[in-house]
Amino acid sequence: MSTPARITQALQQGLRRLVCSPSTASAYRLFDLQLKRRIALSPSLTRLVFTGPDVADMTTEAPDQRVKLFFPAPDGSLPTLPKGEHWKAAHSALPAAQRPPMRTYTIRALRREALEVDVDFVLHGVNGPASAWATQAQVGDRLQMVAPNLAHGGDTGGYEWKPPRDVRSVLLVGDETALPAIAGILEQLADTQPELAVEVFIEVPLEADCLALRHSPATRLHWLPRNLLHSDQGQGMLHAVRELASLPQGHAAPGVRLEKVDIEKRILWEKASSASSAFHAWVAGESATVMEIRRHLIKERGLPRECLTLMGYWRAGRTFG
Ligand SMILES: Cc1cc2nc3c(=O)[nH]c(=O)nc-3n(C[C@H](O)[C@H](O)[C@H](O)COP(=O)(O)OP(=O)(O)OC[C@H]3O[C@@H](n4cnc5c(N)ncnc54)[C@H](O)[C@@H]3O)c2cc1C
Repeated sequence: MSTPARITQALQQGLRRLVCSPSTASAYRLFDLQLKRRIALSPSLTRLVFTGPDVADMTTEAPDQRVKLFFPAPDGSLPTLPKGEHWKAAHSALPAAQRPPMRTYTIRALRREALEVDVDFVLHGVNGPASAWATQAQVGDRLQMVAPNLAHGGDTGGYEWKPPRDVRSVLLVGDETALPAIAGILEQLADTQPELAVEVFIEVPLEADCLALRHSPATRLHWLPRNLLHSDQGQGMLHAVRELASLPQGHAAPGVRLEKVDIEKRILWEKASSASSAFHAWVAGESATVMEIRRHLIKERGLPRECLTLMGYWRAGRTFG
C-alpha cells in the first residue's frame, strides 16, 4: 500500500473510532431540579412539573423509565448530593439524619427543549417522605433526581417495557402507582402499533381517578375504582386477571415450582425474557397483589413466565428506599 493510501486508511480508522466508540459518560447522573408547576390530575394523583438547566442533559428510554428521587432528609436538610457519578457513595457516607430518602418514580414526560420533566405522584398521605413532599411542595422547592444521561449515547436501561417484536396481544395490569407508566405505554402503542390488541386493567382509589388516557382504537381499557367496586387494595387487579382478562390458552401447572420471593425484604422484579412471543403481559403494583397474579398466571393458567413482566412497585406497610 502506498504511503498516502496508508495515511488515508489510518485517518479513516481514527475517524471511525471517534464516531463508533461508546461514550465514557455514565448511563445515569444526578440532576438538580426545581418544582415549576403543580397540576392536580385527580383526587389521588398530582403531576409535578420540574425544571432546571440540567434537564437539557436528561433523556428517557421508554414509557416506564424509572428514576430515583431524593427528598429532604429527616433533619429537614435539602438533598445536595454531588453531580456526576459519585452521588451513590456520597449518599451512603452521610449520617442517617442528613441522608436524603430515595424513592423510585416514573418519568411521565420529558420536554428537553422546554427544560421540563413531569412526574405523576400518588398522594397516599404524609406517611412517607415522597408522598408527604409531593403533597406539600410549593413552586420553587428543590429536589434531586438520578435519571438517564443524554451524554451516555447508548441504552441507559432502567425500564422494562420491551414487548417482543412479533407480539400480537398485550395485557397491562397495574394500580395507581403504575398508572403513569401505563398511560405512557398506551400513548406509545397508539403512535407506533395502533392495530395491536391491548387489554388494560387499572385499579385506582376513586372513580374520579379514572383519567382520560390516549390510546389506540384496538385498546380495551378497564378501570377498577376501589370506591365503586367496594373493594380493598389489590382486589380489583386480582379479580380482573382471574375472571376478566382474555389470556392465551395455557396448561394448568399446579406442580410447577415458583421461587419464593420474600416481599417483606425485597421487591418482586421478574422480567419477561422471550424475544419472540405472541402474548406479553406487563404487571406492576402492590407487591402482594403482583405475587398473587404471578401465582395465578403461572400455576393456574400455565402461562410461560418468559412472556410475563411482574413488578412490585411498593409493599403495603413497608418502606424500601
Ligand atoms: C419502577 C417504579 C416506578 C414507580 N413509579 C411511580 C410513579 O410514577 N408514581 C407514584 O406515585 N409511585 C411510583 N412508584 C411507587 C413509589 O415508589 C412507592 O409508592 C413509594 O413507596 C412511595 O414512597 P413514600 O415515601 O411516599 O412512602 P414510603 O416511605 O415508601 O412508605 C410509607 C408507607 O406508605 C405506604 N405506601 C407507599 N406507597 C403507597 C401507595 N401508593 N399507596 C398507599 N400506601 C403507600 C407504604 O406501604 C408504607 O406503609 C414506583 C415504584 C417503582 C418501583
